[in-house]
Amino acid sequence: MTDETIGIVGAGIVGLATGREIALRRPGTRVVVFEKEQQVSLHQTGHNSGVVHAGIYYTPGSLKADLCVRGVSLLREYCQDRALPYQEIGKLVVAVREDELGRMENLYERARNNHVPDLRRISRDEIRELEPHAGGIAALHSPRTAITDYPAIAREFAQDITGSGGEVKLGFPVTGITNVPGGIEVASGQQRVRVDRLVLCAGLHSDSVARLAQDRREPKIIPFRGEYMLLKPDRTHLVRGLIYPVPDPRYPFLGVHFTPRVDGTVEVGPNAVLALAREGYRLGRISPRDLLGLAAYPGSWRMAAQHWRTGVKEYRGSLSTAAFMKDAGQYVPGVGAKDVVRGGAGVRAQALDRDGTLVDDFRIHQVGRITAVRNAPSPAATASMAIAEHIVTAVFDA
Ligand SMILES: Cc1cc2nc3c(=O)[nH]c(=O)nc-3n(C[C@H](O)[C@H](O)[C@H](O)COP(=O)(O)OP(=O)(O)OC[C@H]3O[C@@H](n4cnc5c(N)ncnc54)[C@H](O)[C@@H]3O)c2cc1C
Repeated sequence: MTDETIGIVGAGIVGLATGREIALRRPGTRVVVFEKEQQVSLHQTGHNSGVVHAGIYYTPGSLKADLCVRGVSLLREYCQDRALPYQEIGKLVVAVREDELGRMENLYERARNNHVPDLRRISRDEIRELEPHAGGIAALHSPRTAITDYPAIAREFAQDITGSGGEVKLGFPVTGITNVPGGIEVASGQQRVRVDRLVLCAGLHSDSVARLAQDRREPKIIPFRGEYMLLKPDRTHLVRGLIYPVPDPRYPFLGVHFTPRVDGTVEVGPNAVLALAREGYRLGRISPRDLLGLAAYPGSWRMAAQHWRTGVKEYRGSLSTAAFMKDAGQYVPGVGAKDVVRGGAGVRAQALDRDGTLVDDFRIHQVGRITAVRNAPSPAATASMAIAEHIVTAVFDA
C-alpha cells in the first residue's frame, strides 16, 4: 500500500492506460489525470485508424516491437472482458511490383523475430481468395491483425481510474510544473495541485510540456497530418480486411491503406503531410508559434533537405483526390477518385532529433520524479497497456 498521489498529464490512451495501471498495481495510490480538453482522447487517440497492429514492422528488440506484441494480448483480453469492439479481420501487406519483394521478405523476417502469430507469405491467387478485388503479386497475410474503437477503450480506462478513487481533471491545461520539497506542483493558470510524482503523456505537446518540467529540448515534436478518404457506401464491399502497401523503410509511416472501421465504413489513408500547426487537422490551419518553432529547429531543415521530394508528393495528394487515389488504386484496381469522399484527418506527434532523424522507437525517460513519454507514435494505441506496464515496472517498481 502507498499513499502517494501520482499525476499524469494527458488523457489520451497512453496517459489513461498508465493511470489505470498505477491504480491497479499500487493500491492506495491516488491518480490524477490533467487534460486540457473538455473530453478524453480528443487528439491522436480519437483520430487514428483503429488498427490493432500485430507487430510486423518494428525492429526486433525495440520497445515498439516488444510493447506492441505484448500490448495486443493485453488489449484483446481487456476488450473481451469489457465487451468492447475487437474484430480480427486480418491484414494483407501487398507487393505490387517485383522490386518490392525483397522488402516484403525483410518484413517477413522481422515479423518472425517479433513472434507475430500465424503470419504467412501468400501468392497472387491466395490474395484473390481473401480479397477478390485486390491487386498485387504477393503478400504477407496476418490473420490476427484486428480493428477496435480506441476512444471507447480510453473512456473505459478513464472509468477504471475514477472507479479506483482517482480523478480525470478535464479543462486543465497544464501551464507550469515546479519541483517543490518532496513532490511536484502542477499548475494551470492560478490553480495548483501537488503530486508526489508525474508522468507526461502529452502527445502533440510532449516536447513543450517536457520543457515546463526542465527536461531536455530534444527531440522536438513535428506534426504530420494524416488525411483520409472514405469509400462511398456502395463501394465498401470491395474490401474485406485491411490492405496495406509494403512500406518505405525510410519512414515510420505505413503508407496509404484500406481500413475497414468497426462502424462498417472503409477508410483510405492516412497520407503524411507536414502540418503547419500541432493541431492542424485542416490544410489551411496555421499556427505562427508552431511554425516559428519548426523553423528555429535545425532538425527541421535537415529533415526537409533529406525528404523534400516525398513531402511535395504528399502535398500533391492532399490537394488532389485523384493524386491521393493514384497509389491506393494499385491495391484495389478500379477504385479511384470517383469512389471516395473526403473523410477526417488525424495529426501524428512524430519526434525529430536535432540531426534531422525521425525518431523511430518509443522514447520514455526519467527526470527526477517525472517520467516523460517523448515519442509515442503508432503503434502506441495498440501498445498502450504494455507501455503502461513498462512505465510502472521500470519506474515505479524499480
Ligand atoms: C492518423 C493516425 C493514425 C494512427 N493509426 C494508428 C493505428 O491504427 N493503430 C495504433 O496503434 N496507433 C495508431 N496511431 C497512433 C496512436 O493514435 C497514438 O500513438 C496514440 O493515440 C498516442 O496516444 P497519446 O495518449 O500519447 O496521445 P494523444 O491521444 O494525442 O493524447 C495526448 C493528450 O495530452 C493532452 N495534452 C497535451 N498538452 C497538454 C497540457 N499542457 N495539459 C493537459 N493536457 C495536455 C492532449 O489534449 C491529449 O488529450 C495513429 C495516429 C494517427 C494520428
